[in-house]
Amino acid sequence: MDYSAPEKPVLRLRISGIEPESIVDGPGIRMTIFTQGCPHLCPGCHNPQTHDFNGGHWILISEILEMIEENELLDGITFSGGEPFSQAQALVPLAREIKERGYHLVIYTGHVYEDLISNSATTPAYLELLSFADLLIDGLFIFEQRTLDVPFKGSANQRVLDVQKSLSAGQAVLATF
Ligand code: SF4
Repeated sequence: MDYSAPEKPVLRLRISGIEPESIVDGPGIRMTIFTQGCPHLCPGCHNPQTHDFNGGHWILISEILEMIEENELLDGITFSGGEPFSQAQALVPLAREIKERGYHLVIYTGHVYEDLISNSATTPAYLELLSFADLLIDGLFIFEQRTLDVPFKGSANQRVLDVQKSLSAGQAVLATF
């Protein structure tokens, strides 16, 4: 589902909530934005309240940027969900502003990187959003493979990808820390 009109930037998002300071959704201290709406419906999902595309509430991108600017401790921003790529077009202008301000950007997705790239032929916002990301944690949450031992992952099948290296290489490149 895409909430945006294709002919102009969308300046608001439908979100489930915002964690102002997180240390589990990427390196450093981060603000995590939980987008509302997820098509994947992984069994055992920890955030079932984010599934309904009509749930949550709208927030202006300008409001999010004000919150970011008020916290000098932030190292980065994380888009989680829900499924952030279901609102890719709306997230592009926010991602651009975040990177212009010098923050590290992590995006979680239930899709896999290769599908996002191939589907960007019909949904260009996928590639545009990826172009602003530093790390992508991709793949469905698989309950049988759940883990608390691997940083930033919910289940072992998920990958932590270096997006800029992946785009340059033309294939998924795992991040190194
Ligand atoms: S992709 Fe994430 S939010 Fe969506 S159902 Fe799976 S674990 Fe839950």
